[in-house]
Amino acid sequence: MTILANPERLQAFISSIFTTSGSSASEAEQIASHLVGANLAGHDSHGIGLIPAYLAHLEAGLVRPNQVPVRIGGVGPFAVFDGQMGYGQPITNAVMAQAAAIAKDIGVALITLRNVQHVGRVGTYAEALAAQGLMSIHFVNAIYDEPCVAPFRGSDARLMTNPVCIAIPGSRPVLLDFATSGIAMGKVRVAYNKQEPLALGRLIDSAGQPTTSPKVLFEDPKGALLPFGEHKGWGLAFVAEILGGALAGGPTAADAAGRKRGLVNGLFSIVLEPGRLIDGGGFDDTVAQLTDYVKASPAADPERPVLVPGEPERESRAQRGRDGIPVDPATWKQICSRARGLGLVPPEFTSDAPAQRP
Ligand code: NAD
Repeated sequence: MTILANPERLQAFISSIFTTSGSSASEAEQIASHLVGANLAGHDSHGIGLIPAYLAHLEAGLVRPNQVPVRIGGVGPFAVFDGQMGYGQPITNAVMAQAAAIAKDIGVALITLRNVQHVGRVGTYAEALAAQGLMSIHFVNAIYDEPCVAPFRGSDARLMTNPVCIAIPGSRPVLLDFATSGIAMGKVRVAYNKQEPLALGRLIDSAGQPTTSPKVLFEDPKGALLPFGEHKGWGLAFVAEILGGALAGGPTAADAAGRKRGLVNGLFSIVLEPGRLIDGGGFDDTVAQLTDYVKASPAADPERPVLVPGEPERESRAQRGRDGIPVDPATWKQICSRARGLGLVPPEFTSDAPAQRP
């Protein structure tokens, strides 16, 4: 049965998994806060379900706990970072803190990050920058054992789900943050764990034919995800591979020797103070006016009003923060089995009922 986990208790448990497996308290807290935060935002694909993979990479010596990013180049607004194959969340938090400092000092930071394990939900970093009044644009490539996204018009996988993220701070903040595949890989994993089919148009089988079965990404013979938006999504995925991979000096999908290093990301980010280009107050008013204008479009389906990017995450945070985070049985079983292997006793959560506050 699906459990409904209290976010604070869940985060404490997840943090204990990482301290027990070798991370400092600060690192464990950052990973746990990021993963539970992704679940709260409604992105279970980038939440606690990733823990078994992270621990498998740790056991294989692919992720190195307790690393700090090293600035290996760049002057002025430019900064080139190497993530030392550390956990993506603490490394990227530290890199974005340096990018924010540069942007506050001289107006803009252009940074790249290579050699970092999975950074998770990119929007988390963009939200943290937006909370400081900073706008940001992120292009990310991803390298895993084997690619999972087929090119538009192709029939086998060549890239990963390369996310793109843009955040605009203000009284009506905007957060656009998505995988360039029709759906994120992790959402296929969630459907696979729940044994649920996916909508047609998302996946192809090993023969390049449309399928609804999430099995094609996890069982041989392998199929692939399709990019969103035909040639447009495909083009964005390809550009993210160039900016997040080649420009950042990390591996690209074409580099077969760069695989088998865990789930590795590369980033190119632009962080800027909008007030350097336009009067901050006036800009905020204009975005608010525009937001009201587009949202006033009568909903085609009264149950589904017009939203702007970032609203679904805010709504999810409010609802799951109140009612608890739903975790499907297969995902919870995998995490608990890993935790028991580390000598931990998983907490009990209410099944299919609102979570109890501690
Ligand atoms: P998604 O398809 O749920 O799209 C999310 C985006 O669309 C958000 O900006 C959201 O606010 C917006 N949105 C959703 N419904 C909307 C509506 N009705 N109107 C307006 N905007 C709407 O996201 P996804 O593609 O499944 O990606 C999920 C997460 O996965 C992202 O946070 C991404 O960063 C992350 N990701 C990470 C990696 C990695 O390698 N680290 C790879 C892929 C994806």
